Amino acid sequence: MNKYKKDFPIFSEKLKKEFNKIGLIDESSSYINKNFNYENFAYLDSAATSMICENALRGVVEYEMYYRSNVHRGAHYLANKSTELYEEARKTIAKFINATVPSEIVFTKGATDGSNLIANSWGKHNLRKGDVILLSDSEHSSNSFPWESLADEIGCEINYIPTNKKGFLDLKSIKTDWTRVRVVAFPYVSNVLGVINSPKEVSKYVKKRVIEAKKLKGSDKNKKKYYPIIVLDGSQAVGKLPINVQKLGIDFLFFSGHKMYGPMGTGVLWMNRDLLNNMYPYQTGGGMLDGYKEKIFEVGTPNVSGAIGLSLSAKYIESIGFDNIREHELEILKYTFQKMEDMGCFDIYGSKNPNEKSGVISFNAKNIPAHDLAAILDVEGVAIRAGYHCVLKWHKDNKYYGTARISFGIYTTKSDIDKFLKAVDKAYVILGMKK
Ligand code: PMP
Repeated sequence: MNKYKKDFPIFSEKLKKEFNKIGLIDESSSYINKNFNYENFAYLDSAATSMICENALRGVVEYEMYYRSNVHRGAHYLANKSTELYEEARKTIAKFINATVPSEIVFTKGATDGSNLIANSWGKHNLRKGDVILLSDSEHSSNSFPWESLADEIGCEINYIPTNKKGFLDLKSIKTDWTRVRVVAFPYVSNVLGVINSPKEVSKYVKKRVIEAKKLKGSDKNKKKYYPIIVLDGSQAVGKLPINVQKLGIDFLFFSGHKMYGPMGTGVLWMNRDLLNNMYPYQTGGGMLDGYKEKIFEVGTPNVSGAIGLSLSAKYIESIGFDNIREHELEILKYTFQKMEDMGCFDIYGSKNPNEKSGVISFNAKNIPAHDLAAILDVEGVAIRAGYHCVLKWHKDNKYYGTARISFGIYTTKSDIDKFLKAVDKAYVILGMKK
């Protein structure tokens, strides 16, 4: 057993005993997989949602049991305590990504929520007909659909940053009119190809091209006005790589909390405060004391326990340390690539160099449709993902009608990988392609 697995209640019988089940699922009517065993299943779907760490779960429960009350509103002890804990969580997340001030952090319900907030609060008020929005062609729907829908509404043009065979953004192949580019959006780590892009490099390249195209001269301050905004989807990177928003050359970063061992329905949006003057809340309501124009982006009652849980998962990640996280990820990646190559039955998409990758591998097992493979593996106690992974354009452009994907967390072990490979082998036997 790997040393981190014990920190995750879903894998631990000991921790489970502390929480008496109330019986959420009627065992007789739910989907039954007789092979499913909490201590022994291989969870290889952490890129979709990671498991929650004990720290975060305890934070959620403790808050709900001892401090639950509304924030920023009440005048009593619990309301003040709740507000204090919520704002403390904001400070922790600000420190975690090195934001300048905690008010740059907006708690959201996930990455999609963050991206919609940017498009509607900044995009809607700043984009004009004919402006260009540049998206990667392997973008997750969360960071493409909000922009595509806005482009339809306003009359903007969408151009793409091509993804090369290895999975990296191919900046030199971008075809666009740089004088009209107002938004550039891309992922730090692709949720299909798993490669680690360089936001700093993309930002530098984009700004250089805009300066050249517009023939901008004079001070940096003058040029800055014409730079497009850079929107980074950090969903697959935050929690795995150390993040310093001040050094990435970006204006917005959004990510999910449920992929970094935090509670479900949590996420974060970081924004460059300089943009605040040009932003208007797209949701209005409770909590806005000065009227609907107030620059408040969290309206209504927030997910306080979620934010507290998320801040505790950030602390858990820090307690492990990013060097150890990367060391573990590299060990699993190297092992997996070697074993997959030895088996000789996989088409792997994107780079096979562990040093260029995060813990996400998309592939197809030759002659087995991705969904069939996932269904057979499930019966064998191995959880993988199959389909488009919300990255429609890249799959369609490449004529891949679905890919299978395995993805890792800090709790992933080599024996999870062995179990996966054994189950793939069995799939060939079950489907009559191997004796
Ligand atoms: N972006 C990327 C790169 C993702 O992998 C995901 C989750 N699959 C999302 C965005 C969406 O995250 P959420 O479900 O938190 O909205």
